[in-house]
Amino acid sequence: MSDCYELRCKECNKPWGNTPRSFCEDCFSPLELSFDYDAIKKKVRREDLASRTFNMWRYSEFLPVPEKFQAPSAVGGTPLVAAPKLAARLGLNPGNLYLKNDAVCFPSLSFKDRVVGTALVAARRFGFETVGCSSTGNLANAVAAQSAQQGFDACVFIPADLEAAKVLNTAVYGARIVRINGNYDHVNRLCAQIAERFKWGLVNVNLRPYYAEGSKTQGFEIAEQLGWRLPDNVVVPMAGGSLIGKIAKAFRELVTLGWVEAKPVKFFGAQATGCSPISTAVKNNAQRFDPQKPNTIARSLAIGNPADGNYAAKLVRESGGWADDVSDAEIVEAIKLAAETQGIFTETAGGVTVGVAKRLIEAGRIAPEETTVLSITGNGLKTTDAIASEFPLTEAIAPRLEAFEAYLDSQLGAHAVAAGK
Ligand SMILES: *Cc1c(COP(=O)(O)O)cnc(C)c1O
Ligand SMILES: [Zn+2]
Repeated sequence: MSDCYELRCKECNKPWGNTPRSFCEDCFSPLELSFDYDAIKKKVRREDLASRTFNMWRYSEFLPVPEKFQAPSAVGGTPLVAAPKLAARLGLNPGNLYLKNDAVCFPSLSFKDRVVGTALVAARRFGFETVGCSSTGNLANAVAAQSAQQGFDACVFIPADLEAAKVLNTAVYGARIVRINGNYDHVNRLCAQIAERFKWGLVNVNLRPYYAEGSKTQGFEIAEQLGWRLPDNVVVPMAGGSLIGKIAKAFRELVTLGWVEAKPVKFFGAQATGCSPISTAVKNNAQRFDPQKPNTIARSLAIGNPADGNYAAKLVRESGGWADDVSDAEIVEAIKLAAETQGIFTETAGGVTVGVAKRLIEAGRIAPEETTVLSITGNGLKTTDAIASEFPLTEAIAPRLEAFEAYLDSQLGAHAVAAGK
């Protein structure tokens, strides 16, 4: 290999070199990038990272990018936030809970910036001028933003009924948006045909293996931010089921290179009950998931036929973790809980993660003294529709002190009435 990575079939292990394809032609299984870790070991030591900027490209040697790669922009490098108040509310030891806050990922405020980061490097390599994706919202935002910066034409495909904020957050960058009458699974099937017909780089279709590696950087950052240690548990939202597997791959790679001590990590998968093919498969101990028709406010996770669903279920099971799902009402409560305790406003997917974590703790699957990281993947400003009705506007008052005093009285009165019943 002139590169120290190439595509391999996940099932028959056949090598496919580096090319824009996501399925093995022999057995129709998905392809994944496999790396030459001995070569990586010679290229980089853990100490070398100290002098690099804190963003996803500090782990370039582990990513499918060219030698002497110059990062086009500073994607990733998000905070790992200690969450003692949330821990206390959930019944964990206050020092043991962390939120990996990709709600503030650069540039488009979701973890999808990471996958688009590596996908566009591949798009450049393979000579695509037009790039696109099938998206539940965040991916379209990330493709549009980074395409604008890097000079690709962007054409994204979305279900027609996505949240208005997510559509606007794509349109503003000048991307062409094709709204499809159908759900994500319909959109994705169409995109597979488009990738065949046109010479376009669809980041989660024909560039999917390159896209998926970008997710590893969330795992690398978590380990580094814990002081080059692995956590005991991670709770990860699942849509296509890719991110959870790539965090696991990142942890394995760090162990292989000797950058962290080997240790069992339990992987917990989170879904919304209205679209829960993977968590249902885990709970039923099924080898394969049954596709579902999504119906949930967690639109970013609403993939009824997840490409990596069976792999995600297998990982969860073999790691000793578990998967669960929460109702739309629980998602809303969990969004409020993260905001009220830690000052972090996450989108519905984050509500799914926090809500499922709450359940797992109540069920005794996550122990108080273990180190647990919740993967918060997107920003609450993108899904305000989901919680707006929880916060009706208060009455406006006149700009006068008496008016404010009267207002306070009425509020205190209301409290007193509520307290006294
Ligand atoms: C896409 C997405 C996920 C899940 O990603 P998969 O890798 O497809 O499982 C989680 N959270 C948010 C906010 C997303 O946009
Ligand atoms: Zn194969």
